[in-house]
Formats: sequence, structure tokens, C-alpha cells
Amino acid sequence: MASTCPKCSGEMRSIIKSLSARVGPFSVKSLLPTELQEYNSVEIKICAACGYAELYWLK
Ligand SMILES: [Zn+2]
Repeated sequence: MASTCPKCSGEMRSIIKSLSARVGPFSVKSLLPTELQEYNSVEIKICAACGYAELYWLK
């Protein structure tokens, strides 16, 4: 799903990261505040032209 940057109308690239990935002995999820631990992944949309970024928490 392509979307457009609200700042410059450039192309937004989407990256989805799983929060169950591990960083050393910890899962990424365990490093988050309790109120965010119900989410399973995070989607980062970054404008390829100006670098504007949006973050979406996904369940
Ligand atoms: Zn932009």
C-alpha cells in the first residue's frame, strides 16, 4: 500500500518490525512500557524524499 508524504508529497516507504524480535537476551517487547506490550509489531513509514516518518503500533 503506497502512501504519500503529507509534507512533500514524496513516496512513503513502509517498514514493519516485529516486536517479538530479540535483542541479545531480551525480546524487543520486554523493553517496552507496559502499555505498549499489547502490540505485536510496529510499522514505520518513512518518506524517501524528505525523511519525514510516521509510526504505527500494530496488534
Ligand atoms: Zn516527504
